[in-house]
Amino acid sequence: MSSKMATMETDVLVVGGGSAGIAAATMAARNGAATVLVDAGPMLGGELNSGIPVDGCITARGDWAVGGFARELFATCARYDGYVGPVCDFRALNVVCIDPEAAKMAAIDLVYGAGVKVLMYTFADQVVSGEGHVEGVVVRNKRGRTLIRARTVIDATGDGDIATGAGCQMAVGDPSSRSMQPVSLLFRMAGVDAPRLLDFVSNAPENVSVLEYPGFAEDRNAAIRGLVEQGLPKVFFVPEGPVLGQAIAEGRMYPTSLVAITPISTGRREVSINTTRVADVDATDTGRLSAVFDDLHRQIEICSRFLQSSVPGFEDAVLSAIAPRIGIRETRRIVGDYVLTGEDILAGRKFDDGVAKGCHELDIHGSDTGHIRANIKDGGSYDIPLRCLIPKGAKNLLVAGRCLSADREAHSSARVMGSCMAMGQAVGTAAAMAREINDFGDVRDVDVGALRARLTEQGAVLEGIV
Ligand SMILES: Cc1cc2nc3c(=O)[nH]c(=O)nc-3n(C[C@H](O)[C@H](O)[C@H](O)COP(=O)(O)OP(=O)(O)OC[C@H]3O[C@@H](n4cnc5c(N)ncnc54)[C@H](O)[C@@H]3O)c2cc1C
Repeated sequence: MSSKMATMETDVLVVGGGSAGIAAATMAARNGAATVLVDAGPMLGGELNSGIPVDGCITARGDWAVGGFARELFATCARYDGYVGPVCDFRALNVVCIDPEAAKMAAIDLVYGAGVKVLMYTFADQVVSGEGHVEGVVVRNKRGRTLIRARTVIDATGDGDIATGAGCQMAVGDPSSRSMQPVSLLFRMAGVDAPRLLDFVSNAPENVSVLEYPGFAEDRNAAIRGLVEQGLPKVFFVPEGPVLGQAIAEGRMYPTSLVAITPISTGRREVSINTTRVADVDATDTGRLSAVFDDLHRQIEICSRFLQSSVPGFEDAVLSAIAPRIGIRETRRIVGDYVLTGEDILAGRKFDDGVAKGCHELDIHGSDTGHIRANIKDGGSYDIPLRCLIPKGAKNLLVAGRCLSADREAHSSARVMGSCMAMGQAVGTAAAMAREINDFGDVRDVDVGALRARLTEQGAVLEGIV
């Protein structure tokens, strides 16, 4: 490894290639900025590759709240036969189910197709900044260290690494206890007999949660009927039900608030499963994060055995994949020009400088079986203001994704991937527009009305829905 520092120059540097970062980089490049995207991992997509459904794109009422880049990603997944499509869980959400393998193909298509220069396997480890201006980011890979000088920098690292490195004020988890939501390792099972699973749900509906959002059906029975008639294995087992509850009581399952099953491929009869958890982990403590693999992989074995032995439809299913990395729900968030609040999201508040939308429920996972959930007013949407994507005091730094400026409650909703892609589209476009406005000076000079108009032209949903 060379000890000499190389340099590189670009208009826009995006750090982090998850759902927020791929949207940001694609849109910055398409809007005319020379764009570099750096990611520490081996594959674009971040959590999009884990198999979870994309939440936050469709309101509980059924309106699309996110368009533009996200819709293109879905269309590209469809081209690779990897789009299951919108699915209602008859609990609280309309989600979009995709095959994570197709998501990888789609992310590569869109980012490279926009002409973004991509540096994978490359970790951003130092921020060069002063007086609110980020001059560049020092990245490290097998060829050594490179200072990437950028006119505007977008932090899409999930953990807010760049904002932290630039000395911006950050918030962490629960402000009083500093506790954070549990980490989880998603896994997949193939060969699931969906009709048999749904038959079981129909005969033993007390095992699953439905109708937390009352607009989905007249009563519980109608919701169960709707779920079964939909014909897809989108099932949310809860510990209050006998199958999971007894398994936890008898030690055949670990304590958890959910075993959430999502269809990812009808061809492979494959589902993803969101259930494992280890609480009280600060995921920015890499030693601690690495240590929990041992617990999480045991939980995967325990849960797959539980499903095979206790849940009809899983008898012949096999473990088909585990997510490429531990899933992190919550670490650092920036403190931005505005902090989105739990009240804002629950009231479905709209803002003059709204540049993205969220519509996922308030969703705070606790330790063991603890879980706080609440609906957005009228099953609608709320706006994410541009001010939530600009760290206080920073001039040429924007953020998108999980590290947005929000209190814990608002964050638990806005962190989902539909909203992350919408935020990414907004800041990527804003960063490119900064060139036209003030030669990449303070991003606050970008006219929000013009930005909203440009986003709308590019398919983003900013108006017209509850
Ligand atoms: C277990 C679990 C279940 C979830 N369930 C759902 C769900 O059902 N639906 C839903 O929509 N959302 C769900 N979420 C939330 C959602 O997946 C994430 O909040 C969202 O994907 C975050 O997107 P992001 O782009 O901000 O970050 P990420 O997807 O985490 O991407 C960040 C990227 O930045 C890179 N990176 C980080 N630091 C650096 C660095 N210093 N240098 C270079 N690269 C770096 C990483 O390699 C990564 O590729 C879940 C999350 C978890 C953990």
